[in-house]
Amino acid sequence: MENEYRLLAEKLEDSHSQLASRLMAENDCCSNFSEFSFNNTLPFRYLAAALASDEPVPEAEAMFAGFGKEMALSKVPFHVLKDYLYCFKESITLFLEAETTSVKTAMLVVKVTDSAVKSTFTTFRRFQKDSQLANRLRSLYEEERITLKELKDLKNALKEATIFTITDKNDKIRYANEKFSEITKYSSEELAGKNHHSLLYSGCHNDEFYAEIRRAIKNGEIWNGEICNKAKDGSLFWVDTTIIPFMDSEGESYQHISIQHDITDKKKAEESLQKAEKISLIGEMAAGLAHEIRNPLTTIKGFMQILGNFSEDKKTLYSKTVLEEIERINFIVSELMVFSRPHAIPFKDCCLAEIIENASEILASEAEFKGISLTSRVRAPKTVIAGDKNQLTQVFLNLIKNAIESLPLGGNIDLFLTGDHEKARIIVADNGIGMSPVQLERLGEPFFTTKETGNGLGLMVSYKIIETHQGSLLVESEPNKGTRFVITFPV
Ligand code: ADP
Ligand code: MG
Repeated sequence: MENEYRLLAEKLEDSHSQLASRLMAENDCCSNFSEFSFNNTLPFRYLAAALASDEPVPEAEAMFAGFGKEMALSKVPFHVLKDYLYCFKESITLFLEAETTSVKTAMLVVKVTDSAVKSTFTTFRRFQKDSQLANRLRSLYEEERITLKELKDLKNALKEATIFTITDKNDKIRYANEKFSEITKYSSEELAGKNHHSLLYSGCHNDEFYAEIRRAIKNGEIWNGEICNKAKDGSLFWVDTTIIPFMDSEGESYQHISIQHDITDKKKAEESLQKAEKISLIGEMAAGLAHEIRNPLTTIKGFMQILGNFSEDKKTLYSKTVLEEIERINFIVSELMVFSRPHAIPFKDCCLAEIIENASEILASEAEFKGISLTSRVRAPKTVIAGDKNQLTQVFLNLIKNAIESLPLGGNIDLFLTGDHEKARIIVADNGIGMSPVQLERLGEPFFTTKETGNGLGLMVSYKIIETHQGSLLVESEPNKGTRFVITFPV
C-alpha cells in the first residue's frame, strides 16, 4: 500500500513536464497561464514530493502554500490561477485513471491534491486579497456579467478590508470609503469631485514617480507601490497602493480604483532604523575626529593666548578673532564628543523638572529680548530618570534654542513635563515658522541646517543623547504654524 503510494510519486515526478505540457495544450483555460513566467510543472513535482513523504497532507499544504504566495506576488490574476488549478486537478485524475492503483490509494492522492489546491487558494487570498477582489471586479465588469448583488458583495469586502477610492479618468474622486476619510482627515463631502493627486500631494516624490503611475493607468496596467500622501491637517501618511484602471471598449481608461493599506508605522520604523544606522556611522567618524582635533586645538589655544598678551594692538585683534574661531571649532568638537564615548559617563538620577527649569533659565533673557514668552508647565515635578545631567540639559538647550530661532518676530514657547511611573514626556512647542515635509524628512541629519549661521548639529546630537537614554523623539510641524517636539523617556 505504502509502496504503491511512493511508486505513484515517482511516476508523477518522472512525467511532470509531460503532464504539464499536455495540460497546457489540451485546456484553453490554461493558455492564460503561460503569459506568466512561472514554471507550470512545479505543482506536479510538489505533489510527487508530498506523496513520497511520510505525511503527504501537511507536506502538500506547506508546499502549495508557497506556490499560492508566489502566484500572488507574481500578480497572477485569481481567475487564471483558478483555471490552472482546476485543470491540474483534472490531469491528476486522468493520470490516476491510467494507472492501475487500488481505489484506496487513488482516494488518498485525490485527498492530498484537494488539500494542496485549498492551501494554494488560502495563501493566495491572504497575499493578494485586494488584487484578487479587484481583478474579479474588473473581469466581471469587462465581461459584463456582473450582477448587482455581486457588485455589492465585492464593494463591501473592499470597504471593510481597505482604504478604497474610485476616481474618474481626470483623477477626480467619485467614491471614497470611510477608511479613506479617516486617514486623509477629509470628509466624504470634501473629497467628492476633488483631484486625488493635487489634494493629497505631499512633495515626497518626484515628477517621474507620478508620471510612471499615469503611464501605467493609461496603458491599463495595474500599478502597485508605496506612496506618501498629505492629510488635511498637514500630517504625512504612507500607503501601500494598488491602482487598477478600468478600460472602455476603445481601450481608454475611464476610471481607476485604488486600494490602499496604511503603512505609516512600518515606514516610520524603517526611517528611524536608517537614521540610527547613519548616526552610528557618524559616531565612528566623530570618535576619530574629536580625538584628533582636540589635542592640537588645546596647544593652539594656549599658544594664541600668550601671543595675544604680548603683541601690538592689531595682532591682539587678530588673535582675538582666531581665538573665537577656535572656540567655535571647539564647540563643534564638544558636540561631536557625545558620539565618541556613549557610555563614558555613569548615569545618575536626574530630576527632569530641574533640568528643564535650568535650561529655560539659561535662555530666558534671550527669549525675552526677542519678544518670546517662554513658559514651562510641570505636571510631574518628581519625575526622575537615569541619565547624564549635562547631556540632558544640552538636549533642552538645543530644542529651546531652535524654537527661539523659529520665532524671529516673537511668539510663544511652551514646555510641558508630564509623566507616570513608566514614562516621562516632555513637549517643547513653538508657534514659529515650522517646517515643510521635506525639511522634516531631513531632520537630525548631520550638518543639515536652514540657518545662515547654523551648524546643523544640534538635533543630531539631541537624537543621539535621547537614544543613549533609551528615549524617543517625535516631531510634528507645519509651515507657519509651529513645531512640537515630543520626547519620551522610560522612568
Ligand atoms: P541648526 O539649529 O544649527 O540649524 P539643528 O540641528 O538644531 O541645527 O536644526 C536643524 C534644522 O532643523 C534647522 O536649521 C531648522 O531648519 C530645523 N528646525 C529645528 N527645530 C526647529 C523649530 N523649532 N522650528 C523650525 N525649524 C526647526
Ligand atoms: Mg539648533
